[in-house]
Amino acid sequence: MRVVESRDDEILDVELEESLLAKNRELARRNREMLDSKGVIAVDVMGSIGSGKTTLIKQVVKRLKNRRSIAVIAGDLTTTIDADRIEEEGVQVVQVNTGKECHLDANLVGKALDEIDLDRIDLLFIENVGNLICPGEFPLGAHKRAVVVSVTEGPYMVVKHPYIFLEATAAVVNKIDLAEAMGVDPRKLGEDVIKINPSAKVVYTNALSGEGVDRLIEALEI
Ligand code: MG
Ligand code: ZN
Repeated sequence: MRVVESRDDEILDVELEESLLAKNRELARRNREMLDSKGVIAVDVMGSIGSGKTTLIKQVVKRLKNRRSIAVIAGDLTTTIDADRIEEEGVQVVQVNTGKECHLDANLVGKALDEIDLDRIDLLFIENVGNLICPGEFPLGAHKRAVVVSVTEGPYMVVKHPYIFLEATAAVVNKIDLAEAMGVDPRKLGEDVIKINPSAKVVYTNALSGEGVDRLIEALEI
């Protein structure tokens, strides 16, 4: 089969892109300094729309909120659906609407941090916009990354999105209760992650029932 591949130097606005990414890295470094100065650990949660990011965050918050002080930044194009759902847990939630932007960037997260009383929290979850491609290129200043795929997205979600797993602290294979019906082997998805990033911790969850959520908390060491 013939395959046409783009090279980095062929991207038309490569200079714009590089200065944009450099600026983002600088702002991410500032976010990290701010978080570190306040003793806050931040987790960037990535995954496609419908993979279960919000449900997982809710389940983790439910388990930790009595011993940790938690805030959540919820990224989305236009809605507040996820932020509303997480707010039900009684923790501080800031919605970031990105408009047409398909990822959160360090600038937007910096603005969201300004809205949070960082002296009163020690754990921050950042729910990224739902896709597995560009969020990986925009570090936000978070200390850890959790990448979520669900078996309902089919058997190739990991191999088709290798870059996002390179820096994942934890990889979550979600909706394992539906694996048989989908004809997808969750263990194979986990093995695909380890091939890309041997240090990633893979956990298998049913976020709706809460199965595996404690293992995710252990994997993130939070
Ligand atoms: Mg969500
Ligand atoms: Zn994007």
